[in-house]
Amino acid sequence: MALRLLERGRIPREVLRIVEPSPTLLCQWRSLSARSGMQHLRSPTVHNLGSSACTLTEFARERAEGLEEPVFLEPYDRPSLQVFNAHCDRLIRRAGLAALHHQAEVQGVVAGLDEVRVALSTGEVLHASNVVLAIGAGGAPHWPSWAPLGAPGLHHATGPGSFAISEGAESIAVIGGGLTACQLALKLQREKHQVTLISRHALRVHQFDTDPGWLGPKYMQAFSMEQSWSARREAITRSRNRGSIPPDVHARLEESGLRPLHAEVVAMRRVASRWRLSLVSGAHLTVDRVVLATGLSPRRPGGAMVDRLVQEARLPTAPCGFPIVDPALRWHPRIRVSGALAELELGPSARNIAGAQRAADRVLGSLRGEGPARRHPQSRTRGEGRPVTSGHRA
Ligand SMILES: Cc1cc2nc3c(=O)[nH]c(=O)nc-3n(C[C@H](O)[C@H](O)[C@H](O)COP(=O)(O)OP(=O)(O)OC[C@H]3O[C@@H](n4cnc5c(N)ncnc54)[C@H](O)[C@@H]3O)c2cc1C
Repeated sequence: MALRLLERGRIPREVLRIVEPSPTLLCQWRSLSARSGMQHLRSPTVHNLGSSACTLTEFARERAEGLEEPVFLEPYDRPSLQVFNAHCDRLIRRAGLAALHHQAEVQGVVAGLDEVRVALSTGEVLHASNVVLAIGAGGAPHWPSWAPLGAPGLHHATGPGSFAISEGAESIAVIGGGLTACQLALKLQREKHQVTLISRHALRVHQFDTDPGWLGPKYMQAFSMEQSWSARREAITRSRNRGSIPPDVHARLEESGLRPLHAEVVAMRRVASRWRLSLVSGAHLTVDRVVLATGLSPRRPGGAMVDRLVQEARLPTAPCGFPIVDPALRWHPRIRVSGALAELELGPSARNIAGAQRAADRVLGSLRGEGPARRHPQSRTRGEGRPVTSGHRA
């Protein structure tokens, strides 16, 4: 969003701030992707942070020599994580984004007629003309009810912070049957651990997590015309290939000899510094360590911060609790959303890189006066100023 606003929206740098609690930009992406053991992205090269679809391909051509992994994986030219990250680094460096990074967590957003006040974990309050909530899927991992929070030797693959697994071979249960679980299991096996991959469903093999038809009019036309928010939610749920893996990861699993154990864990208990897992079949399994790869919570992202904003600014929500926004992704005349928060408008790809690209395009389009002219229900006649990604007054 920030790159697009600077490069194509011609927003002056002085009025833009990126509020992010991590010490560096893209920190969460780097940490989760590295931890998962992924070597290539699942999405094609055209889904990248550059100003046009081909910038990553051009960058990769320049850089192909000296990279450890093959730069693209067929089919669909999926970039290696290494080249994708190197490309992001270059874009961030060239745009000088690090200088716009304000390291803090947003704890409160108060929407007013003339400005939005953004309260930070540092105690500061930023006064912004416009805010984009680009908080992704919210980062809240889904913890099964039987897994005790904060116990030793128990981790979540998509949880905050990092976890280190000792180099000495351990027995590790990876719980989950999706891409994160399979890639992590393969990585731990490469690191010589004794891995049991426990999946409650048979492996589901799909190239993408969402049919590419959702990126264009094929499916989006009907979705955008759908007036019922519940029907939109159902379409999103139906269309996501949740817990699925692409064929190349499936092939690597087959080659590795790592056969998933089809079972459902119903309880776990600490026994002499190890974990005893109880399966629904009545069987038990004892391991040194457990890694949950059970995905993210389906709740609306943003926790208490967004809950308060909804209540205080009386923002419209669908029965599923997610924002009802206009085509320019405005939830409030001064507050726009992207990522999961925009999915009732952008459809099932909202959570992916393609969704981030489309969110940025919608915001840019609205700045240029392009696109559908449906006015936001909460719009007032006073000036709306320029959009700012959680930042100082424009
Ligand atoms: C292992 C893995 C592999 C993936 N592979 C692919 C792939 O191949 N292709 C694809 O398209 N997508 C993939 N994804 C999804 C991809 O990560 C997302 O599409 C992308 O990160 C979305 O970007 P985002 O900026 O919207 O959200 P995020 O990357 O989630 O960033 C949200 C940011 O908001 C910050 N934040 C949250 N709350 C607050 C707050 N209150 N105050 C301040 N900051 C806050 C967070 O710290 C975080 O940095 C993958 C995800 C994972 C975990």
